[in-house]
Amino acid sequence: MPSAENQQQLDIAAERAKCTFDPSQLTALFYGGEEKMKRFKAIEAMVDREPVFDRTDRYFLGRTERFKRALPMVKRYVELRNEHGLTPEEAAHFKVYIDDYIPVHLHESMFLPVLRSQASDEQLKVWGPHAENYHYIGCYAQTELGHGSALSRLETTATLDLATDQWVINSPTQSSAKFWIGTLGKMANHAVVQAKLIIKGKDYGSHPFLVPLRSLKDHTPLPGVVIKDQGPKQGAISMDNGYARFNHVRIPRTNMLMRFSQVSKEGVYSKPIHPKLAYGGMTAVRTTLINHSALSMARAVTIATRYSAVRRQGNVDLKTDLETQVLDYPAVQYRILPLLSHAFATIFSGYWMNEMYAQYNTDITKGDTSLLKDVHVYSSGLKSYCTKLGADGIEEARRCLGGHGFSLFSGMIDFHRQFLATVTYEGENALLTQQVSRYLLKLYKDVIRKPDMHLSPPSRYIVSLVNHERFVQQRCPARSMAELYHPKIVQKAFQHRAARLIFELAQAEKQGAQWSDLNLECMRLSKAHVQYIMIENFHNGLEKRYNVSSNPTAEQEALLAAVRSVYNLHVFYTLETELAEFLEDGYFSPEQAAWTRQALKDSLKSVRPNAVGFADCFGFTDKFLNSALGSYDGRAYERMAEMTEYEPLNGKEMTDERGVVWGYEEFLRPLIFGEVGAYKARKPESKL
Ligand SMILES: Cc1cc2nc3c(=O)[nH]c(=O)nc-3n(C[C@H](O)[C@H](O)[C@H](O)COP(=O)(O)OP(=O)(O)OC[C@H]3O[C@@H](n4cnc5c(N)ncnc54)[C@H](O)[C@@H]3O)c2cc1C
Repeated sequence: MPSAENQQQLDIAAERAKCTFDPSQLTALFYGGEEKMKRFKAIEAMVDREPVFDRTDRYFLGRTERFKRALPMVKRYVELRNEHGLTPEEAAHFKVYIDDYIPVHLHESMFLPVLRSQASDEQLKVWGPHAENYHYIGCYAQTELGHGSALSRLETTATLDLATDQWVINSPTQSSAKFWIGTLGKMANHAVVQAKLIIKGKDYGSHPFLVPLRSLKDHTPLPGVVIKDQGPKQGAISMDNGYARFNHVRIPRTNMLMRFSQVSKEGVYSKPIHPKLAYGGMTAVRTTLINHSALSMARAVTIATRYSAVRRQGNVDLKTDLETQVLDYPAVQYRILPLLSHAFATIFSGYWMNEMYAQYNTDITKGDTSLLKDVHVYSSGLKSYCTKLGADGIEEARRCLGGHGFSLFSGMIDFHRQFLATVTYEGENALLTQQVSRYLLKLYKDVIRKPDMHLSPPSRYIVSLVNHERFVQQRCPARSMAELYHPKIVQKAFQHRAARLIFELAQAEKQGAQWSDLNLECMRLSKAHVQYIMIENFHNGLEKRYNVSSNPTAEQEALLAAVRSVYNLHVFYTLETELAEFLEDGYFSPEQAAWTRQALKDSLKSVRPNAVGFADCFGFTDKFLNSALGSYDGRAYERMAEMTEYEPLNGKEMTDERGVVWGYEEFLRPLIFGEVGAYKARKPESKL
């Protein structure tokens, strides 16, 4: 019989042999297309060749060491970016692949996009080259100790001094100190600071200002700026999220970002053509977070699937004397494989969102803001839903790995800790659901008044509420489990549920409920609407990309069938999780609910044979995964043992050549030799 190690390699090879499609055919989907994949793979190879990005001992390092390691990474990253003329997109992939939240991350992910979108052309001419070339290292300083979500309550002020033509930036209280600002603590020399704009005593609300923080000569904090790293966090260990307070810091009037609002020398304020234009930077970041969620889920699935395929535990096959691969237990499949389907659903919605955002960017250059609302609402709704799917799903997949999942060597923990912050930044997830719901509610009210008004495709279903009597009689038309698989039936079911929740929210409001009492309704509705558009996007994207020819080759058919099985899994998992809302008004019958449960079980079974193929399709390198459990070759046990070699507790500093731990003489020996007294039971009168 092969040893457990060899059996693992046999198992992973057997999994690959039974895969019904060619996984490499799907990899480009996750890289954003063939062309990008080629370029991105070349970048990955370049990073792997650079010792400075080596991650072998990363799991053993504390915060200060991780920060110190990150500084040479920053320098080399910028050198290579410059040398190879990387586009912003390539540079972003470079940073994703480094897989450490290096402390200039916010310079490119927030500072530059905000400058590009909110500085005027003249300002960009001056600041742009400095910022693009890292002479200015920037951060985005909005959140304060006292307020994050409630932007209108930010306390930092920018008061115009007409006499000197300057803004005076001030943090009047402790709660007004900027906090959580990535890249601020140690690295940035500039910040885009959100501050309340005040002219002649009048408060015009929060606006962005370019504020120098540190000297460009020697990096010392400038007069009036108190600045420091904010301390340890759940994740993003190498990042210097920071604290800053401004004591009447003076900057030129022209340092206000003036693309959308302007203030003249005379102190005359011009407001933007649309109040939401100022949040363009956030919308862009939310859009990228959708793709980031997909890749993070895919990463967890890769590790969890490969390990569960080689991990044998429990029931023994009497013929082979082999225990069962844990991936064959339905409970394991149920906790890992839906995450695979969510990764696919999310990537398709990411494509949809990217296209909408690109269109919006083209329109806005012509002064057309018609897509602004949709872009804002859908980036918010998808960001909120997909980051939660990822944060929860990755943890569930980690737990599925048993004890080894608790080890950092699993490769499931470091990146997940970092990912967890996505549910909070760029709009706290629960709060974002209010924006989606408010938008749907408004559309509903408009449609009731004007039933023939134009609605964009994802919200067109709201029209079904115009005839409410007919709406409440709608029932799911599926007469068998097979009919439940029909995309149109699924689409209608999700539309009906979301429409009903819109109606109920409207009724609650009509009956006088305060908006702040309707949080739960908003969360429910936003989730229902986003689940609907995700299922639509998955279906449409799949048909557009993989149902390509009327006379498909066997290979194309196999690929389409495989991805359709993942689509079905996503649909039935989501339906099953939300069954109560489909049953609640009688749209689903109890029999249809039972078919849903069965269809979910069947979908898990049909994805299972291809599970390792799907794990391979994402195209992650072993170096990137940095996981003993999820490497391509399946040698999980050997790799777990190998990684212990790097543990500093096993190194010379902590263990001598005889294998004896540091501190033995002083702390352990006295115990073992009875030099610490004998144990005596405590007497009742004891004072302790
Ligand atoms: C790792 C990390 C990096 C960050 N980087 C940056 C950065 O670079 N720059 C920056 O400016 N900020 C940054 N932030 C801050 C981040 O944007 C805020 O934390 C976020 O916007 C949430 O705000 P808050 O922390 O004030 O939460 P709060 O608003 O205090 O929320 C607390 C809770 O109250 C709920 N809540 C709040 N208001 C309402 C309401 N009206 N109705 C119902 N529920 C409500 C929320 O849902 C949440 O559950 C970062 C945060 C993290 C964790």
